[in-house]
Amino acid sequence: MDINKIYRILKKQFKSYPAPVVDLIEAQTKDSFKILVTTILSARTKDQTTSMVVQRLFKNIHKPDDLNRYSEGDLADLIYPVGFFRIKAKHLKKLPKILKEEFNNKVPEEIDELVMLPGVGRKTANLVRAIAFKKPAICVDVHVHRISNRLGYVKTKTPFETEMALRNKLPEKYWIMFNSYLVAFGQNHCTPRNPKCSTCPLYNECERIGVKTKYNK
Ligand code: SF4
Repeated sequence: MDINKIYRILKKQFKSYPAPVVDLIEAQTKDSFKILVTTILSARTKDQTTSMVVQRLFKNIHKPDDLNRYSEGDLADLIYPVGFFRIKAKHLKKLPKILKEEFNNKVPEEIDELVMLPGVGRKTANLVRAIAFKKPAICVDVHVHRISNRLGYVKTKTPFETEMALRNKLPEKYWIMFNSYLVAFGQNHCTPRNPKCSTCPLYNECERIGVKTKYNK
């Protein structure tokens, strides 16, 4: 499998899809705090919904302290209808205090620091590190996990195993954009159900197709 070729194709495809919401906010704001908030809100939520909510939220919230002006209930109303909006409102309410006390009001860059923030797990931490700080990190979400396995590039059972396998074999120069490319590809082409294999630019590279062809003989 030629990962350089696959990456080139994914990069080209990316330009023809709507940008994932976190990339969009990065392009629009270059602001690590807004990228962090967008990433927290985007979990288990369609990009379209997250995008609508953050455009509304960022009219009034520009820095961590601004969150202190809202009650948890107000924040829940503001971020509705993202998935788990009540839990995410709780996390946003706690965010300014920990950023101030532990990180001098700045979003940290390191994974073990990022995961100290409320609502930030390993996946979110990797995405913030890669997108906001352009530091090598691989964010493995459902799209990256699914497509890496369908292609046959890794053979893993969980996103964590996929992250570890990718860290071992994916050239580091590809880490930062790998999530963005696969998320866009997974939302538009290699979808969870009924992937559009017959028009896929990776058709000839994909192990899933090889396996299907083998069993159809
Ligand atoms: Fe996904 Fe099908 Fe393309 Fe393979 S051929 S990457 S399964 S859309």
